[in-house]
This record gives sequence, C-alpha cells and structure tokens, in this order.
Amino acid sequence: MLVTGLPPYDPQNIFARILRGEIPCKRAGENDHALAFHDINPQAPVHVLVIPKGAYVSSADFTAQASEAEIAGFWRLVGLVAKELGLEASGYRLLSNMGVDAGQEVPHFHLHIFGGRGLGRMVSRAP
Ligand code: AMP
Repeated sequence: MLVTGLPPYDPQNIFARILRGEIPCKRAGENDHALAFHDINPQAPVHVLVIPKGAYVSSADFTAQASEAEIAGFWRLVGLVAKELGLEASGYRLLSNMGVDAGQEVPHFHLHIFGGRGLGRMVSRAP
C-alpha cells in the first residue's frame, strides 16, 4: 500500500546503493534494521545520517509501512549512535526532511543527527 502523495521508491537512489555496498560510506553504527553513516557534506562538526535498511521513501512512508521491529531498531540505533558519538552531554539535533518544502534530496527515509556545536535557530526565517 502506497502512502498517498508519495512517489514510488526508487531503488537506484544513493542510499539504496550504499545499503547494497555499491557506494562506500563512513559507518557510525548498524543493527539488523538500520545503518548510520557520516554525511558526505557535513553541516556541523558531527553530522550523521541514520537510515532504515528497508525501502521507505520518507518518514511518512516509514511510519505507515514499517514493522514494529524495524521502527524500534531504527530508533534504538539513533539513540545509540548519538551516545557513542559523545553528544549526550552537550546535546544534539535530530532532523528529517520530507518532500519539496523541506528540501528532501535523497528519496530514502533518513534522519540527520547534528552536534558538536551550538546549532542556532530551529528553522530558518521565511525568505
Ligand atoms: P536531505 O536533504 O535530507 O535529503 O539530505 C540528504 C543528505 O545526504 C545530504 O546532507 C547529503 O550531503 C547527504 N549525502 C548525499 N550523498 C551522500 C553519500 N554518498 N554519503 C553520505 N551522505 C550523502
């Protein structure tokens, strides 16, 4: 069942290729259901992406379609990686872009973990 308004999953997207081992990544953690790796163009001293191993376009798709085990596995990896990166004391930000208004570039659900400095405003002012 597709979530209304979402494009079909593109198996050639860059994160699908990382999951298949066709493109390298700098790993930050992994479990049965999710993979974490450092962003290729970091926007903060720590900038890690966490992705489910399943084929989900966005947070809307993931939360509607993924199994309880996949959702639990994904969130457990987010928490573990943030802890292992040493971000718990200073704090960090989780962010997920969905669709055009948010500027989602890669159509495979991912969560950004930012940390390592003060992160400023939560959302930029309207242009
Ligand atoms: P979004 O705009 O939320 O879709 O974010 C996509 C993110 O993926 C951007 O921060 C990119 O820098 C990052 N990215 C794209 N290609 C790669 C790659 N091969 N390895 C790691 N990060 C990547």
